[in-house]
Amino acid sequence: MARPDLLPEVAAFLQRAHGHFIDGRAVPGEGARLAIVDPATAEPIAEVAAAGAAEIDAAVAAAQRAFAGDWGRAMPAQRAHCLLRLADLIEAHGDELAQIETLQSGKLLGLARGFEIAQAAAFLRHYAGAATRLHGETIAPSIPSFHDERYTAFTRREPVGAVAGIVPWNFSILIAVWKFASALATGCTSVIKPSEFTPLTMLRIAELALEAGIPPGALNVVCGGGDSGRLLCAHPGIAKISFTGSVATGLQVGRAAFDGRLVRTTLELGGKNPVAFLPDVPIERMLGGIMEAGFLHQGQICAAGERFFIHRSRIDETLEALAATLRTLRIGDPMDPTTQFGPLANRPHLDKIAALFRQARGDGTRIVCGGETLDRPGFFVAPTALRVDRADAPLLHQETFGPIGTFLAYDDEDELPDLLNGTPYGLAASVWTQDIAKALRLVPQVRAGTVWINMHTLLDPAVPFGGAKQSGVGREFGAAFVDDYTELKSVMIRY
Ligand code: NAD
Repeated sequence: MARPDLLPEVAAFLQRAHGHFIDGRAVPGEGARLAIVDPATAEPIAEVAAAGAAEIDAAVAAAQRAFAGDWGRAMPAQRAHCLLRLADLIEAHGDELAQIETLQSGKLLGLARGFEIAQAAAFLRHYAGAATRLHGETIAPSIPSFHDERYTAFTRREPVGAVAGIVPWNFSILIAVWKFASALATGCTSVIKPSEFTPLTMLRIAELALEAGIPPGALNVVCGGGDSGRLLCAHPGIAKISFTGSVATGLQVGRAAFDGRLVRTTLELGGKNPVAFLPDVPIERMLGGIMEAGFLHQGQICAAGERFFIHRSRIDETLEALAATLRTLRIGDPMDPTTQFGPLANRPHLDKIAALFRQARGDGTRIVCGGETLDRPGFFVAPTALRVDRADAPLLHQETFGPIGTFLAYDDEDELPDLLNGTPYGLAASVWTQDIAKALRLVPQVRAGTVWINMHTLLDPAVPFGGAKQSGVGREFGAAFVDDYTELKSVMIRY
């Protein structure tokens, strides 16, 4: 099927000379320009600027002015109103944003439109609600006072200031919303740095934010790669950093944030997430679970399952059925609504996955299916299932962030806690069984920020999300995010 026509507004948007969005307007930017490449064709579709010190200074100064001014002084209900309007605008422009996202990231158009845009609106509405529910508490004295006088205490939640949000390439809209909507809801202001591979959607959303009534300077976007991110995180005007990306970069960001001045930092990092099927799960359910956990968005989801544990009595039939399913997926243009499996998001990621395929072939891992790049334009690989026979097999421990499921057979359910926990990561895990009591007994034994039972990957704005162990520090969503964006001030009164 031919690639559908671009919407006229998308074609016009791609033609623009993109830079940054600072203090309520598009800024062309000076310095290096980065090509934005369509992963389905490997052809450039647009260019953006890379922010240097001058642009970062301007964006942080604008965020600080808005914090001291219009946004900082806005009442919670006004902040909520703007976030709700932005949710409506994102939905109204959903087709346009979905096309831009698919062109820059290779995400299936249906996933961009039906999942990412819909979730972005849902999260914005959640944070809008949170804006009017920020409160401290009153606390009764717990010890006797010095002179027998009375006292009482209360706490206040105060926004920390201008916040940096650093975003990876896999969900350029959704992860950016997690960062700026939580900042704006609490009265903070935001400077977002999207990934150098996928900055276009956020430039458009910043325009929509202005239309929604979010004042100039409250939401700024600076484009560029790691150097721009480093400058933003090191800027003395930044009161908090919210970073999502790899463990290696997260460690750099965390070190820099604590070096010289203490900047509070939330780190949402990678994972090597385990998926355990107990022997009672029917094969169709297992297959559905493996596809949901491991192969959605070509496996490029931080919470995706990569380590699969299946009882020895079931593993052969499961892998045979899985290979048949993976081999029949329609691989192709993500803009084509009939495509089931698109390209990887960028050339470095393709190179990384190709190296992992070579590693699998070199170390004798059994390649059940896939294990190769596809000979066609763009960044395509075959969805891949690997079988290893030892819990310490390297491919059971390296994050691939791609469409590679690695499978290990277990003999006894008592092995599962050690198998599930056997990595330095702890982002998410899932346990599948018809026996809910068994699943609930496993939950406290799993060291992960999220444990799903009979499901995988679904995130809900009301449910906190974040990593244990090396998968991160802090929590987003729910009510938990408030801790990260506000200073908790204690006030004590003698009377
Ligand atoms: P990455 O760490 O390479 O880059 C992430 C962002 O950090 C990009 O915007 C990049 O430009 C910026 N950056 C790079 N160096 C920087 C520095 N020194 N200082 C500040 N910013 C810097 O990650 P990626 O390849 O874009 O994304 C893939 C990784 O992200 C995977 O490991 C995946 O698991 C993780 N991820 C985690 C979550 C989560 O919620 N836990 C969600 C999505 C992705």
